[in-house]
Amino acid sequence: MAISGSCLCAAVSYEIEGTLSDAGHCHCTMCRKGHGAAFASYASVDPDRFRWVSGSDAVARFESSAGEDRLFCRICGSTLGGMSRGRVTSITLGSVDDDPGVRPLSHIFVGSKASWHEITDDLPQFEEWPPGENWS
Ligand SMILES: [Zn+2]
Ligand SMILES: [Zn+2]
Repeated sequence: MAISGSCLCAAVSYEIEGTLSDAGHCHCTMCRKGHGAAFASYASVDPDRFRWVSGSDAVARFESSAGEDRLFCRICGSTLGGMSRGRVTSITLGSVDDDPGVRPLSHIFVGSKASWHEITDDLPQFEEWPPGENWS
């Protein structure tokens, strides 16, 4: 079963063979800025199972940390995922077309959470990365 995703203008689409993992909400300042939202929701992907189906030339990158790029559509601005050392390692849950098959497990980087946002669910919260976990 493949998971498919796309951007708002549909220029960019991608496919993942297999399943996603490590889904969660990130409240870090970079994610808030990059998404223009209270937090970003991501899941990890196996780079070997990810491929662009269309519009790879419309995918823009921004290196927000050394060796870590944020991916977005240069036409419509949709955030698509993240690259680590040139390989796609995470996707935004909001860009997945249907049910991504995973549910967010935690809130991370709540130490830099927006002052105007209140977390009202019971998921575990971590000041930064959870112990032993890293989406890149
Ligand atoms: Zn687009
Ligand atoms: Zn973040």
